[in-house]
Amino acid sequence: MAKDSNVGPGKRFVLDYIERNAGAIAQLGDAIFSFGEPGMQEFETAALMTGILEDGGFEVERGISGFPTGFLATHGSGAPVIAIHCEYDGNPGNSQQSGATEQSEIVPGAPGHCEGHNANAAVMVGAALALKGAMEEHGIAGTLKIFGAPAEELVLARPYYVRDGHFDDVDAAFHAHIWGEFSTEYGVLQTSVISAEFIFHGETAHAAMYPWRGRDALDAVILMDTGMAQFREHMQPGTNCQRVITDGGEQPNVIPARAAVWWYFRAPDAAGARELFEHAGKIAEGAALMTKTEMEIEIKAAVWPVRANQTMAEIVQHNIDLVGMPEWSEEEHELARALQKACGGEEEGLKREVTPLTGPSAQIPAANDCGDVSWKVPMARLWFPANVPNVAFHHWSAGSALATSIAHKGAVAGAQVLAAAVADMFADPKLVERAKETFSQEIGDVVYEPMLPPAQRPDTGINRELMATYRPLMEKHYAKDKPTFA
Ligand SMILES: [Zn+2]
Repeated sequence: MAKDSNVGPGKRFVLDYIERNAGAIAQLGDAIFSFGEPGMQEFETAALMTGILEDGGFEVERGISGFPTGFLATHGSGAPVIAIHCEYDGNPGNSQQSGATEQSEIVPGAPGHCEGHNANAAVMVGAALALKGAMEEHGIAGTLKIFGAPAEELVLARPYYVRDGHFDDVDAAFHAHIWGEFSTEYGVLQTSVISAEFIFHGETAHAAMYPWRGRDALDAVILMDTGMAQFREHMQPGTNCQRVITDGGEQPNVIPARAAVWWYFRAPDAAGARELFEHAGKIAEGAALMTKTEMEIEIKAAVWPVRANQTMAEIVQHNIDLVGMPEWSEEEHELARALQKACGGEEEGLKREVTPLTGPSAQIPAANDCGDVSWKVPMARLWFPANVPNVAFHHWSAGSALATSIAHKGAVAGAQVLAAAVADMFADPKLVERAKETFSQEIGDVVYEPMLPPAQRPDTGINRELMATYRPLMEKHYAKDKPTFA
């Protein structure tokens, strides 16, 4: 691993630091796995991460942009300003024992990690501390900003951070995410999404005695749904939308005064998502008109499609090639094959080679809330190999490896590549300039503007009741020891 003799002193420092602190990185990832906190409830997770960063000498601002579990940790001053950001939320219903080859919940019905955002957090913190050490030891100028972004599974935080100016002075940003392979990419990678709830208000009445006196909010939801179903035939190729009814009234003998439906509007670009959302608003207005109800719209999230810069992808790829794929043991391959078999994925074990960078990636029909960052500043995305290939995220099979040696080795390799790529940009200001130039060519005449309304604040109550039920049961399984980095 990392035997290249051309490695400069800053980069050498971060590679060694991370290897030396492999135990602490593993412990941090395992602790966050044990917390298993879903979006907006990452209190233990954020406290542990910010505590470690603060002890490590970072200046920490907690609760940025109205996110109680969000943070910004800063080290250094002046140019260039390089940011790393990541998520650390789990999901409801994803409790899974580490290392088990069948579904085995830690706490039945509880939230948990079945994708690997726990490892994302460990990689970011490990890389951050390594970089700070290198900046001090080798007199590297510049500013390192570490962003903790809650509730990625609800595509929530980062558009707020960008809207609120947290990325205004950032020159380049990195995002590292768990995967079953070691790779990076460039181009437009994901889609844009607007998440909005349409709430209708009517008037109650006895449904059998005086239905003519009521104004039925549920009728409005149903009529909006019918309107949307008709509209689907005329949508642009590549766009789609999905919904759940979040409020359909209380009981059949009372005409519902309140009903609500929550929609996701997805499109290949932000303008397309906005257009879809605006048309849905017209359909909702029509439904309100037909039912004599009043309608309000609450935008829950609005993100641009994730894109990645080619110059930065090349820097990341160079470091993936330098660090190389971890060497997996036969037991690790065996666990991987057992999980692949259990979920019907190809039983190939763990990847033995890193993935080359061959050209721009195809756009996939999912979103990530770092999309806004990627249109504001040049951004790179690193996929690090800390989970098993071919398992399905948010299924128990994608949770089993997240606190095992597979995750530990993959996180160390991921932290090394992330820190090394940032170190390269700190060491050579020309790389930062080049990334900015190619970024501006890549985005052409697209002008980034946030899709979130200016006064919109995040809903801090998400998953609160869920955790009021489960946290007392989950607490018994929390890892108690705080990792020590040295
Ligand atoms: Zn994710």
